[in-house]
Amino acid sequence: MINVTKTFLPPQEEYNAILKSAWDTGWMTNRGVLVQELEAKLKTYLGISNIIATTNGTLPLQIAIKALGLTGEIITTPFSYVATTSSIVWEGCKPVFVDIDPEYLTIDETKIEAAITAKTSAILATHVFGNPCAIEAIEVIAKRHDLKVVYDAAHCFGVTYNGQSIFNYGNVSTCSFHATKLFHTGEGGALFAKDETLHNKFFYHHNFGHDGPEAFQGIGINAKMSEPQAAMGLAVLPYMGEILEERKHIAETYNAAFKDTTLKLFKIREGARWNYSYYPVVFKDEAELLRVKAALNQAAIFPRRYFYPSLNTLDYVESVSCPVSESVASRVLCLPLYHGLQPLEVKLITKIILDTL
Ligand SMILES: *Cc1c(COP(=O)(O)O)cnc(C)c1O
Repeated sequence: MINVTKTFLPPQEEYNAILKSAWDTGWMTNRGVLVQELEAKLKTYLGISNIIATTNGTLPLQIAIKALGLTGEIITTPFSYVATTSSIVWEGCKPVFVDIDPEYLTIDETKIEAAITAKTSAILATHVFGNPCAIEAIEVIAKRHDLKVVYDAAHCFGVTYNGQSIFNYGNVSTCSFHATKLFHTGEGGALFAKDETLHNKFFYHHNFGHDGPEAFQGIGINAKMSEPQAAMGLAVLPYMGEILEERKHIAETYNAAFKDTTLKLFKIREGARWNYSYYPVVFKDEAELLRVKAALNQAAIFPRRYFYPSLNTLDYVESVSCPVSESVASRVLCLPLYHGLQPLEVKLITKIILDTL
């Protein structure tokens, strides 16, 4: 069976050796030595000044909305994972969907200003499949209308834009370290804010508002990463170079196989160094996608309809039309892409797709 992804597992003895320090200290959580070591190593690896490791990639979105004091309407993309929209609704704000760009698949920056009202407090956009949004244009719009910018950068581990970490852009960026993501800690995630005041606010928020054991700085939630999670991250991190090389090779093999077909690949933003986190292909219509998916399933190959459905069609949001996102969501399939996917398997996948087209 070949799935869309396969979690990279480091040698178990390496994980155990790292975990030993948690046994030695007797600490399983509350920002122990392993969480602090992971944060320090990620700062160096990613080239960033601030990070807060969290227990997943959804709580950071909710904390960002809360800590920035966002209210009313938040402009967002319909082409993302459900957590982007659900976090907005969960925090009592209203998602206002702006359609996506058909080439880059990120929010269409040329349509944002028309969606701004007196109630708009922020733009929450996703760097889709690790592909940066139109960052400069969004920054100009945000400044002009005094809006905050939050980037759901769940897919962006290791992505750089104009030579620096993608996590440096916007007022805040979030990442997910879920087991299906490029870099993982089982469950996990992170919050990134360059601004020290904001970073400190996030820090209190992610740990109940604790200011020492007996005092509280304000309200908070529990979003702390645990020691076993951090141990997994520390065990996976040394393999990132190897993981990226292999994914790059597989993606290039797919590119070559599909270059003379009608399949549409997404366009990587100029100035970005991409991370090969997903391999989405867009079919000419949904019927073609369903035919290819069925043929692959027949051979025990399970690509994923991702992202699907378009989030503006969720039953708990105000329904609006986003024709580009709805169309892409109905036609996009993420093909298997992971460390350990064998060349013969890649060959089989491309053959089935080419034969079915
Ligand atoms: C995975 C993902 C999330 C949520 O991350 P979790 O770690 O699963 O909570 C949020 N946004 C996007 C775009 C994602 O892909």
